[in-house]
Amino acid sequence: MYNIFDFNMEDLRNWMKNNGESQFRASQIMDWLYKNGQWNFDCMTNIPKSLVKKLKTNFYIEIPELVKSYQSKLKDTTKFLYKYRDGNIIETVVMKYKHGNSICVSTQVGCRMGCKFCASTVGGMVRNLSSGEILAQVLRSQSEIDERISNVVLMGSGEPLDNYDNVLKFLKMISCDYSLNIGQRHITLSTCGIVPKIRQLAGENLQITLAISLHSPDDINRIKIMPIANKYSIKEIIDSCRYYIDKTGRRISFEYALVRGVNDSLKCAEGLTRLLRGLLCHVNLIPVNEVKENDFKKSSLDNIKGFYNKLVENKIEVTIRREMGSDINAACGQLRRSYLESKRYRKGVENGGDLVRCGQSKKTK
Ligand code: SAH
Repeated sequence: MYNIFDFNMEDLRNWMKNNGESQFRASQIMDWLYKNGQWNFDCMTNIPKSLVKKLKTNFYIEIPELVKSYQSKLKDTTKFLYKYRDGNIIETVVMKYKHGNSICVSTQVGCRMGCKFCASTVGGMVRNLSSGEILAQVLRSQSEIDERISNVVLMGSGEPLDNYDNVLKFLKMISCDYSLNIGQRHITLSTCGIVPKIRQLAGENLQITLAISLHSPDDINRIKIMPIANKYSIKEIIDSCRYYIDKTGRRISFEYALVRGVNDSLKCAEGLTRLLRGLLCHVNLIPVNEVKENDFKKSSLDNIKGFYNKLVENKIEVTIRREMGSDINAACGQLRRSYLESKRYRKGVENGGDLVRCGQSKKTK
């Protein structure tokens, strides 16, 4: 049995051909799945009964089950916990902006990169998500909010470039007009810096934005918070970014989570300037989300401002990312972990579909 969402148009046309069916059936089925949101073969009224029968014995339509959702007080951020048919749980976040709805999807169940400040990686990686499983996060979330999603960021749990083939298939598929037709310029892929894969991605002829989770301008400091830095130096990352820019003409985003006493000094800001000067790029400063899985603390407001001002003064393009959903633990992997740890989960009691307003949150500031 195949998950139908793992099939692109070419795959489905080939399947039709190999099974003695007309190839145009593929586009009829795509219309049902993506344009009409019809996720039941029996309701695809223009498909002959005999083909419906064949489809049902060869394919399943996997829309993940909604286990829980949380909405921030400002109602601009909603976090969904979804469960796949094998029981694995992942999280997806939808953010409402003036310019449209943006979704943050997970690419793996868990993560094996081991970044010290990140909750996704506690417990390691369970498995990769298939392209269809990633896509279905968007489909299910669109139907939950009953609005179109126009921007996608691959910044949920998992390292996208550690699941390269499935992620690439997802990127190509979601931007097709028979599917969700989300322009590649509205898609951002974030990586901790797997250099050979960045170079490979540069050759795929995509128009997506690449974001690099840098978090430190020097290797010695970076190794302390990101184990991947043992494998690839910052110089190798920057070289691969240059290659990416040359190949695609796209500006790179550098993610920089400001952690108190770790990477938030003016010296670090100067180091970052030297590293990025002359590169077609943009820096996103993110006050680190404090998670209970570790002891990292957010930089003080003074340090955040100081760091920002130093980059502005040095003519590096920079923004401070607005913190959305910190009252619902919207940082990477946090919710899945707390859910997995909760008594309710251990008892196996599930509470599908209810929207929990988030009063139970504690921190921020
Ligand atoms: N593995 C990919 C994408 C997932 S993480 C990557 O490393 O880029 C998405 C972003 O959230 C990364 O920039 C990551 O470093 C950052 N992140 C993870 N935990 C965080 C936290 N507690 N506070 C702020 N940013 C965090």
